[in-house]
Amino acid sequence: MNEATRDAPRGLQAPLQYLKGVGPQRAKLLSRLSLETIEDALFFVPGRHEDRSRLTPFRELAEGITQSCAGTVVRVNPPPRGNPRVPLSVTFRDGTGYLTAVWFNQPYLEEKFDKVRERQQRVFLHGPLARFRNGPLQMQHPDYEVVEDGEDETIHTGRLVPIYRLTEGLPQRWLRSLLWRMVAKEEYAGRVPESLPEAVRRRRRLSALSDAVRAIHFPQTEEELGAARRRLVFDDFFLFELGLAIRRQREGRQRGIAMAPAGELVARLRQALPFRLTAAQGRVWEEIRRDLAAPHPMSRLLQGDVGSGKTIVAALAILTAVEAGYQATMMAPTEILAEQHLLTLRQWLPPLGVPVELLTSAIKGRERQGLLDGVKSGEIPCLVGTHALIQEGVEFRRLGLVVVDEQHRFGVAQRATLREKGDNPHVLVMTATPIPRTLALTLYGDLDVSVIDEMPPGRQPVVTVARPEGQRAQIYAFLRQQITEGRQVYVVCPLVEESEAMDLKAATEMADRLQGEVFTDLKVGLLHGRLSFAEKEAVMRAFKEGQIHILVSTTVIEVGIDVPNASVMLVEHAERFGLSQLHQLRGRVGRGPWKSYCILLESGMLSDEARRRLEAMTQTNDGFRIAEVDLELRGPGDFFGTRQSGLPEFRVADLLRDGRVLEEARQEAFALVAADPDLARGEHRALREALLARWRGKLDLASVG
Ligand code: ADP
Ligand code: MG
Repeated sequence: MNEATRDAPRGLQAPLQYLKGVGPQRAKLLSRLSLETIEDALFFVPGRHEDRSRLTPFRELAEGITQSCAGTVVRVNPPPRGNPRVPLSVTFRDGTGYLTAVWFNQPYLEEKFDKVRERQQRVFLHGPLARFRNGPLQMQHPDYEVVEDGEDETIHTGRLVPIYRLTEGLPQRWLRSLLWRMVAKEEYAGRVPESLPEAVRRRRRLSALSDAVRAIHFPQTEEELGAARRRLVFDDFFLFELGLAIRRQREGRQRGIAMAPAGELVARLRQALPFRLTAAQGRVWEEIRRDLAAPHPMSRLLQGDVGSGKTIVAALAILTAVEAGYQATMMAPTEILAEQHLLTLRQWLPPLGVPVELLTSAIKGRERQGLLDGVKSGEIPCLVGTHALIQEGVEFRRLGLVVVDEQHRFGVAQRATLREKGDNPHVLVMTATPIPRTLALTLYGDLDVSVIDEMPPGRQPVVTVARPEGQRAQIYAFLRQQITEGRQVYVVCPLVEESEAMDLKAATEMADRLQGEVFTDLKVGLLHGRLSFAEKEAVMRAFKEGQIHILVSTTVIEVGIDVPNASVMLVEHAERFGLSQLHQLRGRVGRGPWKSYCILLESGMLSDEARRRLEAMTQTNDGFRIAEVDLELRGPGDFFGTRQSGLPEFRVADLLRDGRVLEEARQEAFALVAADPDLARGEHRALREALLARWRGKLDLASVG
């Protein structure tokens, strides 16, 4: 790299191809790892480090743990031809003894290790030591790295060595050398501008960014590596929370609709209810009422476990909007849930003279047009629907309130688009699956939070048990006993191979068997997603009125169904259900004064994960605890289904591991925005640039910069 290039204005944004030793070929491989610029590479954090200053001698290698060691090849034993069940095994030697490493299904390694043996090259190995079928100890499928002749010891050996994620054709050692040149020799790392305000760094004891960038690749000690990681994690969270803080600040300053009607409709509904609001519901409603009355748009998250009674609170908000002369809409992620909300709201609103309509993609033709017209003219004050639908060009006359249920399936970015549906309507987000705090701060960091932390009175914790297939007969006897006592029962069949048709078949067969062979004297009903809305409604009404004793269902009843007399939830193939799904299902019972049961029937082999799910279910009724276990088992990406969750992508931070740092970063970010809302001060210039670069237009930060 010559002086002219070094001082090129593009600096850290210069393409990697301009670096010495990076030709077009390698640049292409690098871009597969999303490494385009010098900056990208500097922040390409190693997957792990290997301590090659402290290799374990072969003689001291212990069974069952992953270790690093090094030796030379003494023998290569190829597997017999055509037998993929025997691995390639390679025997190594160091000063203390011998070690055999095995690789399955990688025949090309034979030639490779033959060459290594001829050249007497040293090989680093990193992997777990285990016995295969009571044989001798072997290292199984280790990572390996051959020490090439004349290599710089200070880069690849004798120290904490970074191990990078690779792509095919890109050698580990080459990438490591490249980064060594960038952070150590060429001093690019030293030119990374500091973005954090000095005061924040000092308060939180964070190292300088340029030091962190160097040490995240080539640390001198474990402590240095830890400090570097902490700094980069902090930046990930800080820049994210800063974006949220700015958004929230701006929304708070935006003009919204102040809705402060006399509250007649609300009072009338509360009077008509067969129950009184719990203290928690009352408190939460007060928070929402105050938000609605303020001249700024509400952005509030309503959290509460399954069955805690969020819907009635939403209904009060809807009535407030309607009484103030505005329209309200309630959106759900699935049609069945939207239909459930319709049924619930129709119990409450029409008697007060407030019609409620449903719009889903299943409703077509003239009926649909009629609805669209009614919404546009303002004739329909309350519209329930799916989230996709509302985004597809439904026009409101005066939309004042948007209620979103099951929000954890949507994300920050989607929420922003909602606002545009009306003239800054109030937004109330409800989540039935309580989520762990770290995730709440990330996903809902721009929302105010209300929590219903109390169940309606008389609820009893549901007794949850896991039972093997062998006890089916006893379970049926138990169901009969419950029904004899006047109760009702759900039987839920799992989704089979993600196919709705198969799903339906399993449930249909189950219903036929129960009706035809087991409970011939009782009435068995069937509910599934292929039924029309009217059919579903008829089945659910029959169940609610006690005409059906046992309701067999696909997972469509996961949400929303409310029959207090039902006391048993029997889940077939419980091992196939996700944890939050199981918790939702369990929430269908225990709604009346009777002792209720959730029976998880496990059939066939259970994976470790399935076992832990069932264990969690039998050990706790606490939705927050369930959500935490779920997150641990599945990781944040999966927890939210897909990328469209809007979960930010962090360079280094891990939501599970780094929750503490997230809290610190959030505090600092919100404090900073409170003091300097537009990051206009000179000392925040670098920070503002880093922020804009990080969000890259994903959030509208137009007022910044
Ligand atoms: P979720 O929070 O899961 O949406 P719901 O709103 O469906 O819960 O409420 C669950 C059930 O509890 C419904 O039958 C509802 O009518 C009832 N419920 C709500 N609040 C109360 C209360 N304060 N007292 C008694 N029952 C209530
Ligand atoms: Mg609900």
